Amino acid sequence: MGDIIVALATPPLKSALAVIRSSGEGVFRLAGKLFSQKLCSIEKRSSFVGYWSNEKGERIDQVVILCYPAEHSLTGEDALEIFCHGSPLVATRIIDSCLALGARYATNGEFTSRAFVHGKIDLVEAEAVNDLIEAASDEAQKLALMSLEGKASALLKPLRDRLAALLASVEVGFDYPEYEEETALSLEKAEAEASSIKGEIDSLIAEGHEGRLVKDGLKVALVGKPNVGKSTILNLLLGEEKAIVSPIPGTTRDVVEGETRYKGLVFRFLDTAGLRDNPEEIEKIGIEKSLASVDKADAVVLVLDEDRPLDEEEKDIERKARGKIFLVVVNKEDLREGKSRLEDKRIYLSAARKEKAQLLDALAKEAGVSAGAFARPSLNSSRQLSLLAKASRSLGEALENAKEDTLDLFSSAVLGAYTALRKLLGEEATLDLSDEIFSRFCVGK
Ligand code: GDP
Repeated sequence: MGDIIVALATPPLKSALAVIRSSGEGVFRLAGKLFSQKLCSIEKRSSFVGYWSNEKGERIDQVVILCYPAEHSLTGEDALEIFCHGSPLVATRIIDSCLALGARYATNGEFTSRAFVHGKIDLVEAEAVNDLIEAASDEAQKLALMSLEGKASALLKPLRDRLAALLASVEVGFDYPEYEEETALSLEKAEAEASSIKGEIDSLIAEGHEGRLVKDGLKVALVGKPNVGKSTILNLLLGEEKAIVSPIPGTTRDVVEGETRYKGLVFRFLDTAGLRDNPEEIEKIGIEKSLASVDKADAVVLVLDEDRPLDEEEKDIERKARGKIFLVVVNKEDLREGKSRLEDKRIYLSAARKEKAQLLDALAKEAGVSAGAFARPSLNSSRQLSLLAKASRSLGEALENAKEDTLDLFSSAVLGAYTALRKLLGEEATLDLSDEIFSRFCVGK
């Protein structure tokens, strides 16, 4: 019997049903000892209804079992799912019976990692499993599903293959100069190909950043002096009383988080303590959090309650927010009998009059997420984006080297890009290039 893992796949709560998953060589034999029917030689996906007993033969529950032989299972090994009644006690006893016969508890993500190890899914698809579970909006769910279906990996594979072909042609030029005219690309052509691949990777990076916003939402910090109406604006945006609103300056001392959805994007708001010149001790903690939240945010909304230029403290915030979305909101327009409007890059509104559309529109616009980003697969995790960036940098270096006519440096930089894409897909980091590359050419003829 191999290493059989077992885990509860549903939350440990009372419910109609609970699902227990188990996977590993010999799992059908193990289940056969506990289930009222023999399950030894299962060749296709099958379901059974019967009784599950513990190792002493005491019946626990009536269950349905789905058996997946290795070639039809997610994990790439024999696996089964046990559907029992949704009692945490029943589920625990079923799991305990498996443990008693030699199975062990699965670690986090171990079913998915086995699927990856057995080549059932690549790393991008494996990441998508988690994205799907974590998806906070319909759009994020659709994006994760596209990755799970392999559509994000499919963006990458042609580029990986083109890099392999490019490497091959350059290597041929090195090792078999006599073939150069026949098979190898000229440096000029190689450069053009590297540049075209870099262009495509750069587009993937841009689309990935948009995808990340669709997936993770936009973190927005609301900052400004005490009493300008930050908590009121936050409550308005969230549509619930999440932050404490008070006429006494400095009452919101903690960062309060909440989220709202608008035009397919999830905005995660961080309410922060006011900024003031001479903070008292406790207020100071709040201000530090306020500044820290600027660091954490993708967008900073600075709230004023009158139409005036920014003071030094506020300009500091603006500087700190450089490179991020930065919006100025002038609140309490009701006191000046002004309309809600966008003017000179400032958003005028009255939180008391419940005006929020202008602010949300501005945030959505500044986020710059194109309509396409909701419908197109993308490589959007930080791991994926950093490896894409690495590939792009390597190709940038390759192009620099090409200018200096140094073919070996060109080739090693292209190899860097190729390796980054392989890592992205979770393909082996150390590989014998010759197999992959030279199998494309019949050099030895
Ligand atoms: P914070 O300290 O920046 O979070 O400010 P609060 O949200 O606690 O608001 C401070 C005071 O300003 C409260 O009395 C709010 O009711 C009031 N306030 C907030 N927004 C408006 C507004 O648009 N118009 C008016 N007239 N009062 C407002």
